[in-house]
Amino acid sequence: MASTYNVNASTKDFRVAIIGGGMCGLACAVGLSRFGIHADVFESASKFDEVGAGVDLGSNALRALKGLGVLDTILARGDDSKPHGRAMLFVSGLGAHEEVYDYNNSSIFTDADAGMGIYRSSLDISPDFLNALLPLLPNPNATHFNKRCTSISTSTSGAQVIHFADGTTHEADLVIGADGIKSTSRNAVAGTDKKLLQFTNTVAYRGMVPMDTLRQEGVKTEVGRRLCNFVGIDKHIIAFPIKFGKIVNIVAFATDNSVPVGSVEVNGPWVEPVPQQELLDRFSGWGHDVMAMLNHLKTPSKWSIHTLTPLETFVRGKIVLVGDAAHAMPPHLGAGVGQGFEDVFLLCELLGHPSTNLSNLEDVLKAYDAIRQPWANMVLKESFRTGVIYEAFGKPGYGVDDMAGHLAGRREPIWRHDLDGDVASAIAGLRERVSFPAVTNE
Ligand SMILES: Cc1cc2nc3c(=O)[nH]c(=O)nc-3n(C[C@H](O)[C@H](O)[C@H](O)COP(=O)(O)OP(=O)(O)OC[C@H]3O[C@@H](n4cnc5c(N)ncnc54)[C@H](O)[C@@H]3O)c2cc1C
Repeated sequence: MASTYNVNASTKDFRVAIIGGGMCGLACAVGLSRFGIHADVFESASKFDEVGAGVDLGSNALRALKGLGVLDTILARGDDSKPHGRAMLFVSGLGAHEEVYDYNNSSIFTDADAGMGIYRSSLDISPDFLNALLPLLPNPNATHFNKRCTSISTSTSGAQVIHFADGTTHEADLVIGADGIKSTSRNAVAGTDKKLLQFTNTVAYRGMVPMDTLRQEGVKTEVGRRLCNFVGIDKHIIAFPIKFGKIVNIVAFATDNSVPVGSVEVNGPWVEPVPQQELLDRFSGWGHDVMAMLNHLKTPSKWSIHTLTPLETFVRGKIVLVGDAAHAMPPHLGAGVGQGFEDVFLLCELLGHPSTNLSNLEDVLKAYDAIRQPWANMVLKESFRTGVIYEAFGKPGYGVDDMAGHLAGRREPIWRHDLDGDVASAIAGLRERVSFPAVTNE
């Protein structure tokens, strides 16, 4: 895994700017620094702690983080952020929560597929992924806050000029757009068509509940030990343990299927606090364990889930998109940020290659695009389809056998994606078009 050429010896003749200091932006800055590539990070927020949300990572995401040289630091934070070896258990959301499908019983699930749950930001609960990465940045002064990118232009000399809301600009040779689902850098790659981003008609209510409380309530489902998915019609709930199983992280999804996707626009905030009663009303009639969890989720936040229409390309000239800026997807395969880490891993490997320089940068980015655009967009489409399956359990939808047929093996192609193979294919594709000399130990 990862480069075997000398990561400390690389010097480059191009300047790099990263827009967005989220998980992908910071992972990219750290990954590039391993090749001696300096990157300035421009973050619109005033600090790194604006949004708190637990995310689950598959083994592909863990391998990408390992390849970027950051996994051990994240694991060493001393929390429960270590891979857990139990895959998702599907149970009915209604009645006595009968088992629907156990991913552990899948013949192709192995320990190597195990994922983990991490935090995106500095809630009281650590580890905080971003804070774990900060000490790895070689130059903290290269992270610039309160810098909201509004557009990117090209100077007469061919440099990229980033324009910020405060009226300032910054010049770089390469711009990496890591500014998330509402990306502005995407405009420079894919245009400004508002229809690129669509509301999925799904909302997700999120919050956390202590496991002790749930035990006292008589919750029997394994939510304190593994990732559980309570499935039903037009709704499903993901619950998984964090903090050594002391806390259960809950994401309750509800979809309005009466209107086509893309026909409703969310004009208010995409994330907002809502009264608990709204959540209780939506899941009224669901089974005991579900209602016990939701009854203790006192201050839920509601997320309007949006998806990006698959982009034709992640690259234009010397601007390249990574993470949600490139392929924001519904969260139903727990794969969004993992795809972002795969982007970042490949991009760092290609940019860090000794044969990459200013003169062949655009070709190198095309090689990145040729690998990442089809794969990440496939995962995006599958994520959407997976949400449809989760919310089709029960009459008049699927029975237990149908669910098993649809769920078996669904995640493995994503978990087992060959990241080193991506690097090799990208370089091979590059060499078909341009001269890109090989190096020892490549
Ligand atoms: C409900 C829900 C559950 C999810 N669960 C999972 C999961 O279990 N597993 C998983 O892999 N993924 C999950 N995801 C997806 C995951 O959260 C995203 O894929 C991930 O956060 C994307 O990281 P990013 O760095 O690309 O973008 P972000 O995390 O959004 O970071 C973008 C950064 O750019 C900054 N920014 C934005 N605009 C500008 C600008 N114009 N100029 C400068 N800076 C800017 C932002 O402030 C932010 O810091 C989930 C998403 C949701 C909504």
